[in-house]
Amino acid sequence: MKIKVATLFPEMFDCMHVGIIGKAIEKGLLSLDCINIRDYSKDKHSKTDDYPFGGGAGMVMTVQPLHDCVNAIDPAHEYRRIYMSPRGATLNQKKVVELSKTDKILFVCGSYEGVDERFIELDIDEELSIGDYVLTGGELPCMVTVNAIARYVDGVLGSEQSTEEESFSAGLLEYPQYTRPAVFEGLSVPEVLLSGNHGNVDKWRRERQIEITKERRPDLYELIRPRIEEEEAKKQKKRRKKGGNTDER
Ligand code: SAM
Repeated sequence: MKIKVATLFPEMFDCMHVGIIGKAIEKGLLSLDCINIRDYSKDKHSKTDDYPFGGGAGMVMTVQPLHDCVNAIDPAHEYRRIYMSPRGATLNQKKVVELSKTDKILFVCGSYEGVDERFIELDIDEELSIGDYVLTGGELPCMVTVNAIARYVDGVLGSEQSTEEESFSAGLLEYPQYTRPAVFEGLSVPEVLLSGNHGNVDKWRRERQIEITKERRPDLYELIRPRIEEEEAKKQKKRRKKGGNTDER
């Protein structure tokens, strides 16, 4: 996967070169190139912002450096161009999975009060938000997005890690996890996890997932409720059938 980022602060992306994502970049599973928008300013002082027409607080990023930067990086418009913006569709796991299937993405990070609207009209395919709050720039939202999508790129996560059983993957939050020691400060790991009975472990985990999602994210639970009720009905039918068979024997 090829990722390019247009930003006024490319140095902020240094922290992407550590840990799992850093290794993925090193191995060439993912490329991450950050380009300084300021390098494309035609202003004699390399300015990239100006006062807003109509007045109001703050400065607005001017269209020329943004337009020239994006079209120098991606002259044939081969990249999916995403402007990080609180006005965009909100990032969620479904969107993360969808973006991870895109070969080439160009992220644009705004600063100040945002960008001249004509840049969005001319050069951007979509706007993306990481949540209903405002940050000082698009760099952190971009890094959050890149980190989340990189985890779905083949080979990035080791075989011992998986995106399959995580929170949101199946529409439910994750079950509680435990590791050694089995007892800490008087708190014991649930007995079933030490039993070695994989069927019971799976059942326990699934029940906890449902319980936690119901309690903490009723909005998510409502979405998945029909599937869970269907599963439960099937299980009951199976149990009844088994019971019936036993009677017949
Ligand atoms: N005036 C803008 C507004 O009210 O929507 C906020 C501008 S913000 C201070 C500067 C830049 O940070 C934005 O242009 C955008 O690129 C980025 N940004 C801030 N919050 C964001 C969020 N929640 N998601 C994505 N990008 C965000």
